[in-house]
Amino acid sequence: MRIVVLTGGIGGARFLLGVRAYAREVGAEVTAVVNVGDDLRLHGLRICPDLDSVLYTLGGGADPERGWGRAGETWTIKTELAAYGVEPSWFGLGDKDIATHLVRTTMLDAGYPLHQVVDALATRWQPGVRLLPATDDRLETHAVVSDGGQRAIHFQEWWVRHRAQLPTHRFVFVGAEAAKPAPGVTEAIAGADVVLLAPSNPVVSIAPILAVPGIREAVTDGPAPVVGVSPIIGGAPVRGMADRCLAVVGVECSAAGVGGLYGGRASGGLLDGWLVAEEDAGAMVPDVTVRAVPLRMTDEATTAAMVRAAVELT
Ligand code: GDP
Ligand code: CA
Repeated sequence: MRIVVLTGGIGGARFLLGVRAYAREVGAEVTAVVNVGDDLRLHGLRICPDLDSVLYTLGGGADPERGWGRAGETWTIKTELAAYGVEPSWFGLGDKDIATHLVRTTMLDAGYPLHQVVDALATRWQPGVRLLPATDDRLETHAVVSDGGQRAIHFQEWWVRHRAQLPTHRFVFVGAEAAKPAPGVTEAIAGADVVLLAPSNPVVSIAPILAVPGIREAVTDGPAPVVGVSPIIGGAPVRGMADRCLAVVGVECSAAGVGGLYGGRASGGLLDGWLVAEEDAGAMVPDVTVRAVPLRMTDEATTAAMVRAAVELT
């Protein structure tokens, strides 16, 4: 069996731990298509927050408490930059993490496409699944905010610096129209036996992947059933600020709301199946098979059971 997962960073990475465990059990192959909309350049370094969350988590090098970055991290460089008064100072850049960004930036500057950089980093981390960036091209999520006038700021500035609290009109995926799927992405989707949407942020993790021309079509027109997993339990995100993002796009923060945002395949949307938490057992999405199971990713076995339920829903 071939499983393709569309995923963001922290929530998606935890989900992938379960997908990998399930795949080992049943002998399946896994390809993860990872959001790059969060990517940015800071201090001359190219940073890919979601790809790194996935690599570190699957590679056993992530900090479990903080949820992002490396375990056993130190912050000498950040402190030194602050001593110079260099901005931006709101983005957490650990020393170990910086080594990843140095390797990546050097390779990109030498002309390697991002997917080859991911392969190189994966040689160290051995994630046990195939990782593909959604695109090798520049695609950045920006938030159009009001503070005095209207202006667009990078998603990371909106999320990390302003804690998603600025009055916000919409999100824009800069560069998306001209971006091409990274090599292997549409082929993996077309050859999949099932496509899973991780319980990632639908607005700023999954939507930017689908904004790359060709990816959404590969999912909706492909032969594989598509099953999403709700990141919202009992009307609230399990962690993070997905509620703020959903408010911006005018979608109710609920399992049914997010299911409706993705929509049923038979009515022009994405989903054949939608997995919700037991708390949300009554949720309905037109043209979609909804099933309620425990949806908190407390450990790998529980998450693998979620994945099994998702696969068996189709
Ligand atoms: P990010 O890119 O690092 O923000 O991470 P993702 O977009 O991949 O995932 C963030 C989403 O994961 C949030 O909206 C959370 O609600 C969701 N999430 C985190 N932990 C859990 C969990 O245990 N169960 C479910 N169902 N969703 C979760
Ligand atoms: Ca992210």
